[in-house]
Amino acid sequence: PPTGEKYEYQAEVSRLMDLIVNSLYSNKEVFLRELISNASDACDKLRFLSVTEPALLKDNVDFDIRIQTDKDNGIVTITDTGIGMTRQELIDCLGTIAQSGTAKFLKALKDSKDAGGDNNLIGQFGVGFYSAFLVADRVVVSTKSPKSDKQYVWEGEANASSYTIREETEADKVIPRGTRLTLYLKRDDKGFAHPEKIQKLVKNYSQFVSFPIYTWQEKGYTKEVEVDEDPAEAKKDGEEGSAEQKKKKTKTVVERYWDWELTNETQPIWLRNPKEVSTELYNEFYKNTFNEYLEPLASSHFTTEGEVEFRSILYVPAVSSSGKDDMVNPKTKNIRLYVKRVFISDDFDGELFPRYLSFIKGVVDSNDLPLNVSREILQESRIVRIMRKRLVRKAFDMILGISMSENREDYEKFWDNYGKYLKLGCIEDRENHKRIAPLLRFFSSQSEDYIIGLDEYVENMKPDQKDIYYIASDSVTSAKNTPFLERLMEKDLEVLFLVDPIDEVAIQNLKSYKEKNFVDISKEDLDLGEKDEEKEKAMKQEFGQTCDWIKKRLGDKVASVQISNRLSTSPCVLVSGKFGWSANMERLMKSQTM
Ligand code: ADP
Ligand code: MG
Repeated sequence: PPTGEKYEYQAEVSRLMDLIVNSLYSNKEVFLRELISNASDACDKLRFLSVTEPALLKDNVDFDIRIQTDKDNGIVTITDTGIGMTRQELIDCLGTIAQSGTAKFLKALKDSKDAGGDNNLIGQFGVGFYSAFLVADRVVVSTKSPKSDKQYVWEGEANASSYTIREETEADKVIPRGTRLTLYLKRDDKGFAHPEKIQKLVKNYSQFVSFPIYTWQEKGYTKEVEVDEDPAEAKKDGEEGSAEQKKKKTKTVVERYWDWELTNETQPIWLRNPKEVSTELYNEFYKNTFNEYLEPLASSHFTTEGEVEFRSILYVPAVSSSGKDDMVNPKTKNIRLYVKRVFISDDFDGELFPRYLSFIKGVVDSNDLPLNVSREILQESRIVRIMRKRLVRKAFDMILGISMSENREDYEKFWDNYGKYLKLGCIEDRENHKRIAPLLRFFSSQSEDYIIGLDEYVENMKPDQKDIYYIASDSVTSAKNTPFLERLMEKDLEVLFLVDPIDEVAIQNLKSYKEKNFVDISKEDLDLGEKDEEKEKAMKQEFGQTCDWIKKRLGDKVASVQISNRLSTSPCVLVSGKFGWSANMERLMKSQTM
């Protein structure tokens, strides 16, 4: 029995472990991916810190992950030379749920239960350290942080509500730094302690880890050994009595031994030649790196040279992971920044992308930034400004690629998820209007069921039509029933329906597209290019008094009452003044202040 000091888990942790064991049954092997990814994170953390504090490495500069198996006893050990944990960190990290992966898992589980979803989906989520209990009934973590001069041992058992921590005392278990995880496998899971099995899993799941992963493998080489002569043969040969008789007989045998074998490919995928990397591999990398379970909608791998040198792979995730509020204040960890292959941080999204593109995920590796780069340095850096420009341009190319896909649904899916972001871009990024505008989509009076782009609108314009017409409303139904539309429909002029609250502001920021102005058909001075002065004069004469009378009756409720040629069947319509808010904007403003 463990002899260390006993601690209770935070309540959620026991619940989580229970869920893990019961719901991930079919996909147990994820445990290895999770533990390797923790080992890799630990190496990343120490490598980053050691840039400014080389003494932390304690004479051992190698970062690696080693997995040893003992198939007779059903034991798997995973050792890394990363940052390790102090006693307090053991309590904070392995006894509480504060970390991304596990919290995400609980949320996903809840969401999928709420949606009546199946548990297979969850099997693909990162469940972090506790996934060790999928296959092990006892886990021992022996770890040494460079911040502490002691090595500590955390020990926990499946289905227990507590764990213990003690100091490492056995001399042969002392490590200079890092963490050693020992899994005592459950009876039915001892198969994972086979070296070939582990090797296969590493190749499958952890091919993108950028530190070498060694597995303990049995090897063999052939050699010639002398053997005793068969006496019968000797007699037969002996009759000849030749010199050959004295030549010793040999036999080829296989000599077996055990050794570490490098099991993954450590060259990061973004350093490879894009021509040699398949879409499947990019998608695999994406799912591994960002803990995603759906294929991305698009990816783009590029290198820029010249003034600033960097490499990057960008992705558009299949579904937007942040809600509406996150869009305004995104706290995403979507961009992983590397400097000369060293992972620096995934916390610099805002420095590398404008917030309206915060949904883009990817890796960026620069040779021109200092390793000890900070947010302040990034914000001041001319290099980063250039990088940012290029990244944004590539992101737009990638989105344009989806919009040109033969499969219309691809872009509809994109638009459903990210349309709002691009509209925010119209408001926040004047410089890129030319790139954003062709990507916008709207319903229209001639396309109530599927969204169209501005290019389609322009192509469909009448030969003498100068402007792009729009009406802002709260739904397609109310837009198409507005009296403003009558004359335009009669003349077969298409009108865009702006039904999302942000649409109108976005369009007003654009002002024009391909030199055609956006015109709100609900405004006072709508000119459909059909002025007939004679007729207007006659009308004014006939109905001038009626107008005066109506104005008198309505008083201050309206600014003026005028004769108009914009209606065909409705007797009258309320329009907004040239310089005032549109009715839709007024509605919006009202809803904001209430
Ligand atoms: P996540 O990796 O999403 O943070 P995990 O449950 O996988 O969640 O791990 C929890 C925490 O435990 C990690 O954030 C890390 O601080 C710590 N940890 C786990 N494994 C190691 C390790 N091999 N070396 C150092 N710290 C580790
Ligand atoms: Mg983890």
